[in-house]
Amino acid sequence: METKIIKVDPERPDKSALEEAARILRAGGLVAFPTETVYGLGANGLDANACKRIYEAKGRPSDNPLILTIGDISGLYPIVGRVTENAEKIIDAFWPGPITLVLPKADCVPMEVTGGLDTVAVRFPSNAVARELIKTAGIPVAAPSANSSGKPSPTRASHVEFDLNGKIDMIIDGGPADWGLESTILDVSVDRPVLLRPGAVTKEMIEEIVGEIDVDPAVYSKPSADIVPKAPGMKYKHYSPAAKVILVSGNLENVVKTINEKVSEDSAKGLKVGVMATEQTKNRYTGASVLVVGDRDKPETIGANLFKILRKFDHIGADVVYSEVFDEAGEGAAIMNRLNKAAGFNYIYC
Ligand code: AMP
Ligand code: MG
Repeated sequence: METKIIKVDPERPDKSALEEAARILRAGGLVAFPTETVYGLGANGLDANACKRIYEAKGRPSDNPLILTIGDISGLYPIVGRVTENAEKIIDAFWPGPITLVLPKADCVPMEVTGGLDTVAVRFPSNAVARELIKTAGIPVAAPSANSSGKPSPTRASHVEFDLNGKIDMIIDGGPADWGLESTILDVSVDRPVLLRPGAVTKEMIEEIVGEIDVDPAVYSKPSADIVPKAPGMKYKHYSPAAKVILVSGNLENVVKTINEKVSEDSAKGLKVGVMATEQTKNRYTGASVLVVGDRDKPETIGANLFKILRKFDHIGADVVYSEVFDEAGEGAAIMNRLNKAAGFNYIYC
C-alpha cells in the first residue's frame, strides 16, 4: 500500500487536505495525525473492521484497548453509557486537552475497540489539526499512538513514517507534538477515580478538582504476573528502544562518575554505549554517544524530547544506554513512568 504524506499548517490546516483524510477514515482506512500528546493512528471508532486494521498495522495485541477521540464535546454522549459526576468536573477543567477518561461504554462501541471491556476510553484533543479532522469526519476516531507496538510513541511525522510507511493510507504532518508524552488516563467509571497512566494533567491537578484519587500499582512498579493492571496496555513492554536502557539514580555528582565508569567498562567489552544527558551535564561524559534530552530546570523540555531521543539511540545503533533520572513531582511522574518502562525498571543506585 502507498502511504500518502500531507504537510499542513498546525494552526490553520488546509480544509481540502482534512476532507480527503476524513473520507479515508469514513471509508474504513487508516490516517495518522498530530495531537498535543503524540501522533495518533486514526480509524473509524465505530467500525470493527477498521479498528482491526489498527491492530494489524501496529502489531498491537488485541486485548490492549483503543482510545476514542472526539472533535467536539457533543461527540461524547453517543459513545458512553453514563457521564459520571467526576467525569463532568474533569471535562469542565481540562477538556479539550491531554487527559483521557474511562467511562461505561455505549452499545454502539465495538468490543474490538475496548479489548472486550465494558468501559471505553475517550479523549477530546486540543490540537487544531486533530480537532478539525475528527469534526470533519463526523465520527468518533479510534486513535492509539501511531508507532509499531512496543516502540517509543511518535512525536513527529517522520517517526510515524519510519514505523508505518506502506501499512497505512495517510500521514498528516502537522509538525512536532507539543507535549510529547501520551495522555493522562483517569478511570472515572468507579466512585473513587483511579489514575491509570500519568501524563500532562498531573495527579495534583486532578486532585484539586475531584479530591483524593487512587493510583494503579502498575504506574509505579513493574507489573508482576499476579497483578492484572486496569489499563491492559500496562502489562506490555512499552516505549522501549532496541538498546538496553539502564537508569542511574543518586546524587548528580555520583551519577556522572558512575556513568563514566560504566561507559569505559562497556566500551572495553566492545559495546556501543549511549548516555542520555541533560543541558546541565552534557559536557561531563566521555567515550560515549551523548544525547541531550532537555534542561533539568525545564522538565517540559525533557517530556517533549524523551521519545525522540530514545529513537535516536536506535538509529545510532547503541547497545546500551545509561540515563540520568528526574524528579517525580508534577509532570516528572509522566516522564519517569515512561523512562522506567523503557528501562524495564532496570536501576543502578549510587
Ligand atoms: P495508546 O492509545 O497507545 O496511548 O494506548 C491507550 C491505552 O489506553 C492502552 O494502553 C489501554 O491500556 C488504555 N485504555 C484504553 N481503553 C481503556 C479502558 N476501557 N480501560 C482501561 N484502560 C484503557
Ligand atoms: Mg501507544
